[in-house]
Amino acid sequence: MALLVLKFGGTSVADIDRIRNVARHVKREVDAGNEVAVVVSAMAGKTNELVAWAREASPIHDAREYDSIVASGEQVTAGLLAITLQAMGVEARSWLGWQIPIRTDSAHGAARIESIDGDELIHRFCLGQVAVIAGFQGIGPDNRIATLGRGGSDTTAVALAAALNADRCDIYTDVDGVYTTDPRIEPKARRLERISFEEMLEMASLGAKVLQVRSVEMAMVHGVRTFVRSSFDVPESINSNPEALQPGTLICDEEDIVEKEVVTGIAYARDESQISLRRVPDRPGISAAIFGPLAEANVNVDMIVQSVSEDGSRTDMTFTVPDGDLDKAIKVIEENREQIGYELIQSDRGLVKVSVIGMGMRSHAGVAATAFRALAERGINIRAITTSEIKFSLLISSEYTELAVRTLHATYGLDKAF
Ligand code: ASP
Ligand code: MG
Repeated sequence: MALLVLKFGGTSVADIDRIRNVARHVKREVDAGNEVAVVVSAMAGKTNELVAWAREASPIHDAREYDSIVASGEQVTAGLLAITLQAMGVEARSWLGWQIPIRTDSAHGAARIESIDGDELIHRFCLGQVAVIAGFQGIGPDNRIATLGRGGSDTTAVALAAALNADRCDIYTDVDGVYTTDPRIEPKARRLERISFEEMLEMASLGAKVLQVRSVEMAMVHGVRTFVRSSFDVPESINSNPEALQPGTLICDEEDIVEKEVVTGIAYARDESQISLRRVPDRPGISAAIFGPLAEANVNVDMIVQSVSEDGSRTDMTFTVPDGDLDKAIKVIEENREQIGYELIQSDRGLVKVSVIGMGMRSHAGVAATAFRALAERGINIRAITTSEIKFSLLISSEYTELAVRTLHATYGLDKAF
């Protein structure tokens, strides 16, 4: 017997038929003798619709009311799954965030989970009841509903698995695992059997959309073995050991991965903007003068490249921000023109950041150099580079996205059998 947290995303609960399919998955685990908590998202597209309604009613709105509106989608699916399970003879009860309670901080719209009281749920498991939990929501210090940011049901599931000390957290979704890169761009992308928490965190942060970044952080901190698997086409007769019987990707400790590759995956993120400040005075405090006001304005600066000045007096400073922040960033820089003292500001939007991720980079030299050569051979210009211990990222023009991803995928042998 194991304690499992199962999470089903929007496409897996998109209509009543899909919810019945989810109920069958749950029943399979219950019949195998497991204690089960299920976290559900809203039906596919529902949260977008709710967000749009809030914006239509009032473009600028109270974040507490936004939360009360957008949290409603999960209330519907939790109730629907509970009655579907009951109709199949499985004892089940739905739970909203405040009823458990899942306590969050006060950042409405992007709240962080602070604590989960699992006592009542554990009591219900002992009575043989399945808990169906509305994802994406909790209760803030102001006693009002708080939501966890888009994609937040993943975080509900992992946090719950940590709080209940679950044996595993299964994330059921519309893909059958984590791939070496986006299969829509590179059909030769392969499903990874296992990926380390650290690599998954980089993949998610750098553009892979399988899991909410915060849920991976949470899994890493609490050591929650998280299994990403498909909610579709599962034979009825399967037993409860998915690691042996069903494809999927296990996110786990590095030590649990036997075959280690130098590079594990290629991620990409669109909609990046580049800003270049030309002929900035090269003096102490110049970075603070540029990035201080941007941080205050909540502009998310990512890559930063500063050139060495020729004569020790003037230099160029290039950095990237999300496209959505470009206008605000330029405004902030122009307002601070005097303090910064640049000569010219140039910008470009719609760029792409392609990232190469792998634990093996810690012990192998020259991994990035291989990429530079491969891209150069295909005439792809690299506009900015950042590196860290287990990844490097390259900023390129968007027309090269597919070519760059495919080139890098092949360069590191990711299309070959592991
Ligand atoms: N329904 C929410 C969203 O669409 C939360 C989730 O699905 O994880 O962002
Ligand atoms: Mg999701």
